[in-house]
Amino acid sequence: MLFGATTRREAVVKKVVVASNKLQSNIRFEIDPEAFVCAFFEAEREGLDLIGLFHSHPAPATPSSVDLECMKLWASLIWLIFSSVDGKLAGYQMKNGKVVEVTTKVEP
Ligand SMILES: [Zn+2]
Repeated sequence: MLFGATTRREAVVKKVVVASNKLQSNIRFEIDPEAFVCAFFEAEREGLDLIGLFHSHPAPATPSSVDLECMKLWASLIWLIFSSVDGKLAGYQMKNGKVVEVTTKVEP
């Protein structure tokens, strides 16, 4: 879970909360709802918003059909996907009903 702040031009991640995969699968994930809510409210107390979700694929860093369905449910979130195949990191966001790739920049 990626928490931070968003402006019209950029989203800055200030806090990363790692959640275990409730499904214990290499191809699908589900965050434990209790862990999700706890992280959400803790971040809210810190003045941070949930701005994205990160996960990895044993495939290209493009949204899967399942990702696309979930993206429709929470369109404001940025989905950051890492490919364990080629090491590519890419971010996507639903805008006006369409998935667009967003520029990502990793800083220390
Ligand atoms: Zn995915």
